[in-house]
Amino acid sequence: MASGHTVLMRLVASAYSIAQKAGTIVRRVIAEGDLGIVEKTSPTDLQTKADRLAQMSICSSLARKFPKLTIIGEEDLPSEEVDQELIEDGQWEEILRKPCPSQYSTIKEEDLVVWVDPLDGTKEYTEGLLDNVTVLIGIAYEGKAIAGVINQPYYNYQNNEKQKLREHRKEAKVRRIARFLAPLVGSKEAGPGAALGRTIWGVLGLGAFGFQLKEVPAGKHIITTTRSHSNKLVTDCVTAMNPDDVLRVGGAGNKIIQLIEGKASAYVFASPGCKKWDTCAPEVILHAVGGKLTDVHGNALQYDKEVKHMNSAGVLASLRNHDYYASRVPESVKNALVP
Ligand code: AMP
Ligand code: MG
Ligand code: MG
Repeated sequence: MASGHTVLMRLVASAYSIAQKAGTIVRRVIAEGDLGIVEKTSPTDLQTKADRLAQMSICSSLARKFPKLTIIGEEDLPSEEVDQELIEDGQWEEILRKPCPSQYSTIKEEDLVVWVDPLDGTKEYTEGLLDNVTVLIGIAYEGKAIAGVINQPYYNYQNNEKQKLREHRKEAKVRRIARFLAPLVGSKEAGPGAALGRTIWGVLGLGAFGFQLKEVPAGKHIITTTRSHSNKLVTDCVTAMNPDDVLRVGGAGNKIIQLIEGKASAYVFASPGCKKWDTCAPEVILHAVGGKLTDVHGNALQYDKEVKHMNSAGVLASLRNHDYYASRVPESVKNALVP
């Protein structure tokens, strides 16, 4: 530990920069226009050139700096020499300035398992719903998700064309005002004209950063669920929540962001299909701000390296009142989803 920083904090600081780099790859593939779509197990289970390049970048960059880590990535890729251009060597200094929670200060590299989803929300990515997409790097110790990074490459992007036009007009006006004010104020970080993309990160016992925590108004049950992988179990379970509103969006990372930003109160996915790399990083961010992610039975998920990848008993996540949502899962749904 020559640098004076713990292995965990160095890893999180590197994962932040590596997730950012993956986000730029995700944007570049769209800009170049050739998605290279491959069907994996079904027409709704896809892989693109961005999934492949981002995973190569993330896994090689992590392995180069932390050779003793166990790294589990979503995509099955042939082992080949990775282009130097894909390697990210940076670390986010702001993370290194934070204290490592004492219970994690002596963790060794070989004790950590990293779960990588290079592009979560691939189906939506191929359909142009770009703000649904995230890059997920989750870190587990003794089977528990303890740290995570989420990059959202198209944060600030507007999918809706009309909205885009409105934004464009607003931006033009803002640019005129900004030119006038430029000598008087610092650079803009949010709002119209802001840069695309953001990175959220968290460590249990330290907190989660890179967003403004917001809650859905008390008593409202807004359910977020899949838009590409629905079935009768999923809809039965959503209906049983007695929802005021149901949002159908892509990506596990995206849905957890909706929970922490006050857009939804629970994420309900009563079906197999979602894997450990989908939930590891998002679970940490949610848990770090007092939320809870479990299967539909209310059981915690395990992330040790031998665990099966599939979250066979589904996903149930909420920022508050987890017991309410868990208590409403129908017995028929529970019986159909064996952990
Ligand atoms: P969704 O909410 O549909 O975006 O799913 C969240 C994550 O789980 C994404 O990474 C999906 O690819 C994955 N997923 C969920 N259901 C399935 C399925 N039936 N087949 C393949 N992947 C799935
Ligand atoms: Mg995914
Ligand atoms: Mg993926």
